[in-house]
Amino acid sequence: MTPSTQRSVTIITGVALIVAVTALIAVLLSGGAQSSVSIAEPAPSAQVTQSGSFSTLQVQTQPSSAVVAESAAQTVRETDTTVAPTVADTSISSGSTRPKTLLVFNKITDGRDWHAAARDPANALFDQYAQEFGFEVTYTNDASIFLSSDSSDFDAVVFHNTKNNVFESDELKAGFEAFIASGVNYLGIHEAAGTHNDGTTETTESEPNLNNFWPYLEDLNGSLMDDHPTASTAGSERQNATVNVLDNSHPATAHFGSNFEHSTEWYNFNRIPPNATVLLAVDESTYNPNGWLNEGGMGQLHPIAWHQDFGGQRAFYTAFGHYADEYSNDGVRTHIGEAVLWVLEIDS
Ligand SMILES: [Zn+2]
Repeated sequence: MTPSTQRSVTIITGVALIVAVTALIAVLLSGGAQSSVSIAEPAPSAQVTQSGSFSTLQVQTQPSSAVVAESAAQTVRETDTTVAPTVADTSISSGSTRPKTLLVFNKITDGRDWHAAARDPANALFDQYAQEFGFEVTYTNDASIFLSSDSSDFDAVVFHNTKNNVFESDELKAGFEAFIASGVNYLGIHEAAGTHNDGTTETTESEPNLNNFWPYLEDLNGSLMDDHPTASTAGSERQNATVNVLDNSHPATAHFGSNFEHSTEWYNFNRIPPNATVLLAVDESTYNPNGWLNEGGMGQLHPIAWHQDFGGQRAFYTAFGHYADEYSNDGVRTHIGEAVLWVLEIDS
């Protein structure tokens, strides 16, 4: 390379660097991380660091090698074609500046999705809150995601009407436990408590239990669904009842008065969640709580929504959300939306 060629490469490189840095700054200043184009990793902090080193390069009169020119050209190409410059490789302080991210887990295992109609309105609710409060949402029904993800990828996970044995191996169970332990908060909605909840049916090789009891999920939810009223046990699966607000200091219940009426499928739980703060309880005298296991419901305290500290993580459970129209009920929308924000640790 002749000196004049080298100089022109240097100039071109310098221009390219300035373009690249300008593009980077523009992306950062425009809140690019919240644009519709997903900017996952690397985190913006890594881009700032990288653009800082580009600034240093700009004041050099002689780029030290063709590698720098190649690297700059590469950066410009990538800047031209993507919103997120791939400055990659770096020591990214994971999760520090990326947008809050919610993982919504929708898996069921036996194909009989009692809550199929609720999925679209629930997703619309999550999406609306995401847009309003600037977080991102990922939807999946693949349990293997927990093997390859942790708190650097997601801040909270929602089990939205999951059902039965969604973790079909010990490896998947261990992966999920590690995922939560890495620092991910949890929100269980309705049949999240009907997931791995059957402690009554023995598993045999010829008759596998499709809903194996898993104590970890009982602890994470706080309790599990035992049964609920049905047409044969109570005349109707869906009933109107009075809900008492036991604690309105939480953002998910602050909008309720001292009590309110609601119509849903009322779960009977296998226990009072032992380490939780119960927020809502349904008044069993206002409906027929008989289920196929529990004659007479749960007794004096029948919790419906609660939260707890789970090994340092936030965990929230609400029994609302069986029916699609519950997601257009203002009170329930705010209840679930605020629970989402709470597990994401976003102030509303
Ligand atoms: Zn249900």
